[in-house]
Order: sequence, then structure tokens, then C-alpha cells
Amino acid sequence: MAILDWKEPFTIVSEAAGELNIDAYLIGGYVRDLFLHRPSKDIDIVAVGSGIKLAQAVSAKMGRGTKLTVFKNFGTAQVKSRQWELEFVGARKESYTRDSRKPVVENGTLEDDQNRRDFTINAIALCLNRNHYGELIDPFDGLRDMDNLTIRTPLDPDITFSDDPLRMMRAVRFASQLGFFIDPDTFDAIERNRERIGIVSKERIVDELNKIILSPRPSVGFELLELSGLLPLIFPELSALKGVETKEGIGHKDNFAHTLMVLDRLSRHTDNVWLRWSALFHDIGKPATKRWDNRLGWTFHNHNFIGERMLPGIFRKMKLPMNEKMKYVQKMVNLHMRPIVLSDDEVTDSAIRRLLFDAGDDIDDLMLLCEADITSKNPEKVKRFLNNFRLVRRKLIEIEEKDRIRNFQPPVTGEEIMSLFGLPPSRPVGVLKEAIKNAILDGVIPNEYEAAHAFMMRKAEQMGLFSTRPDEPPN
Ligand code: ATP
Ligand code: MG
Repeated sequence: MAILDWKEPFTIVSEAAGELNIDAYLIGGYVRDLFLHRPSKDIDIVAVGSGIKLAQAVSAKMGRGTKLTVFKNFGTAQVKSRQWELEFVGARKESYTRDSRKPVVENGTLEDDQNRRDFTINAIALCLNRNHYGELIDPFDGLRDMDNLTIRTPLDPDITFSDDPLRMMRAVRFASQLGFFIDPDTFDAIERNRERIGIVSKERIVDELNKIILSPRPSVGFELLELSGLLPLIFPELSALKGVETKEGIGHKDNFAHTLMVLDRLSRHTDNVWLRWSALFHDIGKPATKRWDNRLGWTFHNHNFIGERMLPGIFRKMKLPMNEKMKYVQKMVNLHMRPIVLSDDEVTDSAIRRLLFDAGDDIDDLMLLCEADITSKNPEKVKRFLNNFRLVRRKLIEIEEKDRIRNFQPPVTGEEIMSLFGLPPSRPVGVLKEAIKNAILDGVIPNEYEAAHAFMMRKAEQMGLFSTRPDEPPN
């Protein structure tokens, strides 16, 4: 059979299975990805009999540098070599209770094991035993679904999804990741069973969301989540962006559609998952800040600040990491309009320095997000913005070379100010530091110690910090 070469490690599994008189099959993601010509890391093997015994035999044959891990409670085992990662499981039959996605498990046939799989394309088995090596066991015609790019459950979808509602997220994720379509009956069942998502842990949901976000066109996944009614249950703030209100004949754009367009556009340029999350969140403050103004029409004043402030609550609820990743997303959301405002007005050196100071090392990411945010339908407007953007980018490089603002460290430190003027940590110290920073960012003085020191002395005198002679520090 051409689809499966006699290559390591399958030859080894085949030999071990023969010696133990066990039937062994390759199954799941690896088989699917073999047909789709996608690289696949994890190799799942199902044994009709003890998966653990088969794993032990394989590990022994692979020899040095191989690590065997047995999960006795789950009846599974993992064999890891330098090149391969094999997961072994005994064929099983599963039955579920209403309030948990953890099944009661008993030994079963290959058929039982295929019945418990989530989708037809994930239930194709390839025999590894010598006499039937490479033979396909495909009871649900997964190959046809592969050809038609279809996601479909092997059994009644209402039962499949109600048993383990995580599978609803997986359906959407595979559609987005692989560019597949969810079969209508399967999709309708997701809609009907959507409330069951409540028994799935937040962590598992975020895992799937991350995979959707990292797919080539993430909008596919988020549209499906919205259409099926899952999105309001797992990410209501994103769902709330949907819709258009019209007043006196003036509508605003649909911020859900806009957000997804920005995410797709950004995804052509970066695989940074947190930058992609930033795109999802960039307008999250819009519903809360939407106002109608008789003169201006629809406004969303300060939606960037409000959005930034909403993030800790959302991250906590969704069990996203509340660490420097969140800080980064907050920064992106806060700053996402700065470069565009800049390119709208005159691009002054001082404004560029301030942008560099506020964005620091994340300036390139911010520029990518901003460019993706230009989704106007008016080609003239888009052209003007993109041209101005080129100018902003050139000036960013120019000013950074000259003034080194990116990782700005104030040339005069707080400690120095305190010891120079005999001050405890206090307001005047902060005022002086801030004045020096502003003078540098506004181009009043260069970003150098001498100039900053002289500026500080003048400022300190104005503030009355000298009790004796201004050029002689006390003590
Ligand atoms: P990927 O590894 O790319 O995320 P995968 O299909 O390999 O995709 P895994 O989570 O590695 O997904 O699972 C391996 C196989 O186990 C799947 O192909 C599927 O057959 C089965 N499987 C995984 N999770 C479930 C589930 N929740 N319900 C039913 N079967 C599942
Ligand atoms: Mg896998």
C-alpha cells in the first residue's frame, strides 16, 4: 500500500505486534494528515489488546535514547525517541454520564474504538500487522469526507456532541485549521447542543481557541462559532461586537466583521499568537463606548483605553494567562490607534519619539496590527493611509537611529536626583524625572547625560530645590 512506507517506527511496531500476537493500527490525526500531506508530530496507535504491553515491547526494541511513560490509570503509554512520539492505547468502548465529559471505559474491538472517535476523518485505521500492512479500515467513509473536505461525526451527532461537548469546539477548529466544511447535520447538532459546552473546562476551550487563532484564516472558525451560537457562551465580549445600528440614516460598521477582517489580514504577516489575540481584542471596548452625537454621528471615544481595562476581567474569566502576555495585549489594544492618528496629522519628530517610547520593542508588532486595521472600502483612503504609513515607518527608523528611544532609560536616575539634592523618595523627584523625559521626547535636549544633567539643574532651580548655591550640590 503506497500510503504507508515500511519506515521506522512502524516496522518496529509491526514486529512487536506480531510477536505479541496483537492487532495494531495507526489511527487519528496522523492518518488524516498523511492523506492531507500535512506534517504531523504525534502518532496514535491503537492495539486490540494491551496498549501498554505493546508500548513496552516497542520501547525495548527501539533501545537506547527511548523513553517509555506508562499511564496505568488511563491504560495508555507513550514512547518517545529522538525522532518519534508514539501514543499507545488499547481499543476501547466508552459510555458517558450526563454531567461529565469523562467516560466510563471498557475494553473493546477496533470497531468500538472507531465508534468513539470524534469525526470520520479521524476514525480511519491503517493496519500495522505484517500480513495486512497498510490496509485501510474506514467504516464511515472518512476518505470520501476527506475528498469533500467534510467534517462529520461517525455516529448520531447529537449523541457524539452531548457525550463530549469539547468535540463541538474541535469541529470548528478542524474546519478553520484544515479549510474543511462542517456537514449540515453535524452543524445543526452543534447548534442544538451548544449549551452543553458549559461542562467543558475553560482551559480546553482556550486550547481550541488558540488553534483557531493560529489557523490560516481564523475568521472561518470565529464565524462558525458565532453561527452555531457557541460564541456568546464562550466569548460574549467578542460576540457583542456584532451588529449595526442606524440613526438618521447613518450606520456604523459591524465591528465583529471588521475585527475578523483585521485578524485575517494580520495573520498573513505573523504567527505570533498574542499579536493575533490583540487583533481580536483591539475594538473590544467599542460596544461600551458607543454614543450618538448630533454633530459627529457615531463615536467610540476612548474605546482603546476602555478595551485595555476590560482585559484583566476577560482574561481571568477565560483562564487566559494573566502575566506579561496579557500586559502585551493590553499595550497593543491601548496603542492601536496611535500610528494611524499620527499618519493622519502631521508626522512630527516629537510624536514619533513618544510612540517609540510607549511601544518600546513592540513597535514593529504594533505597526503590523495598525496596517491590518485599515479596512476601509474606499481605495483612495486606503492608499493615503498606506502612503502615510510608509512615511511613519521611515521616520521611526530615522529617529530611533538618532535618539535610541526604544529602550529608553532616563540618563539621570532617581537615585542620583535624591542623593544630589538630599531628598527622600518624594514628589519633586518624580517631577524632575518626568520633566527630563519630556524634554528628551519633545526634542528640547538630546538623549544624553550631560544635556540631561544641565537641564535638571535649571529645572531644580526653578523649583526652588537649592537652599544654597545652584551649581554646588548640598554636602
Ligand atoms: P491535532 O493533534 O492536530 O490536534 P488530532 O486529531 O491528532 O489533531 P488529538 O487530540 O491528538 O487530535 O487526538 C488524536 C485522535 O484521538 C483524534 O484524531 C481522534 O480520533 C481522537 N480524539 C481526540 N479527542 C477526541 C474527543 N474529544 N472525542 C473523540 N475522539 C477524540
Ligand atoms: Mg494529534
